Amino acid sequence: MLTFVAMSDRLASDQAAAELIEQAPPVRIFTMLGRFWPYCRSRRAVLAFVLVLSVVQPALDVAEIWLFKLLVDNVLVPESFSGFPPIAAAYIVLTLLGGFVSYVDDVLSEWLSQRFLTDLRADVFRHMQGLSMDFFENRRIGDLISRLTGDVTAIETFLVSGLRDGTSYALRLVAYTVAIFLIQWQLALVSFLVVPLLWLVSRHFARLIKIASRERRRRAGSLSVVAEEALSNAVLVQGYNRQQWEIERFQRQAEAKYHAEMAATRLRALFTPLAETTELMGALAVIGLGTWQLSNDQLSIGGLLVFLTFLAGLYVPVRGLSRITASAYSASAGAERVIELLEQAPGVQQSRFPRTLVHPKGHVYFDAVSFRYPSRGDWALDRVTLSIPPGRTLALVGASGAGKSTLAKLLMRFYDPDIGRILLDSVDIRDLDLSCLRGNIAAVLQETLVFDGTIRDNIAYGKLGATDTDIVAAARSADAHQFITALPDGYDTRIGERGRRLSGGQRQRIAIARAMIRDAAVLILDEPTTGLDAESAYRLTAPMRRLMVGRSTILISHSLLITRDAAEIVVLSQGGITERGTHDELLRRNGTYCELWRHAAFDGPRKAETGDRR
Ligand code: ADP
Repeated sequence: MLTFVAMSDRLASDQAAAELIEQAPPVRIFTMLGRFWPYCRSRRAVLAFVLVLSVVQPALDVAEIWLFKLLVDNVLVPESFSGFPPIAAAYIVLTLLGGFVSYVDDVLSEWLSQRFLTDLRADVFRHMQGLSMDFFENRRIGDLISRLTGDVTAIETFLVSGLRDGTSYALRLVAYTVAIFLIQWQLALVSFLVVPLLWLVSRHFARLIKIASRERRRRAGSLSVVAEEALSNAVLVQGYNRQQWEIERFQRQAEAKYHAEMAATRLRALFTPLAETTELMGALAVIGLGTWQLSNDQLSIGGLLVFLTFLAGLYVPVRGLSRITASAYSASAGAERVIELLEQAPGVQQSRFPRTLVHPKGHVYFDAVSFRYPSRGDWALDRVTLSIPPGRTLALVGASGAGKSTLAKLLMRFYDPDIGRILLDSVDIRDLDLSCLRGNIAAVLQETLVFDGTIRDNIAYGKLGATDTDIVAAARSADAHQFITALPDGYDTRIGERGRRLSGGQRQRIAIARAMIRDAAVLILDEPTTGLDAESAYRLTAPMRRLMVGRSTILISHSLLITRDAAEIVVLSQGGITERGTHDELLRRNGTYCELWRHAAFDGPRKAETGDRR
């Protein structure tokens, strides 16, 4: 037994899993019941019916065993055939009834379980959709998926199936106990001698199984994390020849999961023979005493046989109940992880009385905004004040890490500023309905966000109910129509996960078409040409300019060629504004911007500009 304690403790303290996934805070079984009961409440009538069926089943079993006693004592021992037909008829009726009850019970129970799973899973997913960026930036996707699948199932196993089986076992226990006491109370008392022992063994195992279950659930999470990360980063893995490293990492987690599973299985497997040995002691004592009573005519042979049948049947629910205890621990380990997720509150909250803007003009105003990321101590933005009049373009330039993307994220309310406020058409965006705010912003970001669907679906994602005409018009404006129609399936071409089957430039043109179709008053272009070759970047200029027309635009770019025409250029450095003005004003100041301009990686314009100034 000690080895199992040691094994479980070793697993629980293993660093390899700790570094991937943190342990969720423990929850009590009652907390879990209270938390998830609402998913059963609306179906309590069906649940009650299933529970009633679980009363009927043990009753039928008892009746069947009793028939056996009648068969032995009234037919077999006296060797009289006359008693047989009614007993045979009763057997047939009982079996048919049992079959019907078991059919209804199976279907309804499964229905309850599946409804529970579907609803809880959908709610957990809905909750995750409402969480803010800080949550997603700090969590491993594989672990979240594992919570959504395995952990939710573990809760169901205990709560719905466990409740039904538990009731059935408990009733069987009561019915069989009453039956054996009715047959022979002295024998019944003897058979109960082993119960305290059985209880002690079960309790000890339950504690060990709890540790093992928690570890199993956590290991399932870390295995998904490793698989998800390696598979979704196949380019990185293969490009840097890290396959072996990833295989080893995966194997380590798979091994750890194997050990966790084996530890749990060994515990369960060891429990069964131990319980059986204990039960056997009870049965032997009963047979010994029973034989003596038989010889003294205190008991019929049918009575003894039936007694032993009940006794064997009695230990089944005792063991079943302890199995449910084990599933309760597995469920509580899963529940810990699901509740921890459900208790995450979104960092960005919808206002209680949200306002909406119909056709906003798109005046964006950052009013002395300061912000730091929850996980960081330093300010990512420090008292930034900016104004973007309707339809004008503000360009943000500056070294990487200066805070440019952070400004864009704050405008989309992925985070809220710690100090200051952001206004859209003079309304604090915190007072705006979140979906109204985001509905009025179109964004083309550095990392192109596309999903594995058709080109048509990817463009239409920008606007609910987009028509084919809208899609083609948007694609034309984005200079994408031509390459799309040249593809074998045209607009119905699937582009692969993350758009892998398209070139970087093509992906960005799809993203521009999507932003185009959104027809929003505010536009964010965050380094849309990053990672593209000069030719592809150049080919994006015209569609981007078309997209910017008539929209208040925040343009973040390293390419000063694109930003030079902006109404205002703002130079950010370490979260603060160091320079601002038009391209010409900034060149005249001969400061950071001028320096950047001189070092920009394009020769023609630079020479022309600096030549002019001289
Ligand atoms: P830029 O867009 O100018 O390159 P960012 O706005 O992305 O800069 O980042 C500004 C600062 O905030 C950097 O120091 C960066 O490390 C930090 N930062 C960005 N995103 C996060 C995040 N999700 N969590 C913590 N810090 C972040």
